Amino acid sequence: MNLILIAPPAAGKGTMASMLHEKYGLVCISAGELLRGVDPNTELGQEIRALQAKRELVPDEITNKLMKERLMKDDIKNGFILDGYPRHMPQVDAVNQMCEELNLKIDYALLLNVDYDLALKRTIGRRICPKCKQTYNVLTGVNAPKIENMCNDCNVELTTRNDDNEETFKIGYSSYEKNCKPVIEYYREKGILVELDASKDPQSTFEQFEKIIGSKNND
Ligand SMILES: [Zn+2]
Repeated sequence: MNLILIAPPAAGKGTMASMLHEKYGLVCISAGELLRGVDPNTELGQEIRALQAKRELVPDEITNKLMKERLMKDDIKNGFILDGYPRHMPQVDAVNQMCEELNLKIDYALLLNVDYDLALKRTIGRRICPKCKQTYNVLTGVNAPKIENMCNDCNVELTTRNDDNEETFKIGYSSYEKNCKPVIEYYREKGILVELDASKDPQSTFEQFEKIIGSKNND
C-alpha cells in the first residue's frame, strides 16, 4: 500500500505516519527529512541549507530528484507514505511520472481534516518540558499540565518552541490552503482521496482510516 499524506499544520501528520508505519510497515518518506539529509559538505547540501535559512522553498527539480532516488531503494517494497510531498500541482505531475517510470502506484491520498481554530490552538498552546521533552497543550484541553505551566514529572517550568507562534502558523496554513487545494481536488477526482477527521485523538483518526480502507479492501 502506497500513500500520500496531506494535512494542514498541527493535524497530527507525524503521529499518523508512525502509526501507519507500525501497523503496516510502511516506510515514511518525508520531503523535509530528505532535504535535511543531504550531506552539508556538498554543493547541493549547502544550497539547500542556504535556502532553508532564508525560509525559501527548495526548487522542485531538487526535491523531485531526491524523491525519485529515494523511491528507487529496496526498502519501499512493502509500501510507503509520502509526507510533505507532493505539496503543489507541479510535484503531482512529477510523482505521476516517477510512478510510471518506477512501476509504482499511489493507492490512496489521505487528507487529515482539522479546522483552523483547533489547529491554531494546538500550535500556540503547545508547551514543552525543557528537561524530559514531554509536550503539553494549555489551550485545547488535551494533554494539559496538572499544575499550570509545569511539567507533571519534572516540576520544571514549560517552554514554547520558537516556531509555535500565531504569525508562523498563519503563514504555514495559508500556504497549505493555496497550494494543497488543487492537489486535494486532483486526488478526489481520481477517486483515491480518503478524508479523515483529525480533530480528535490520533487513535480515532487511525481507526477511521482502518474502517474505510478495510471496507474498500472487502469490495
Ligand atoms: Zn519533564
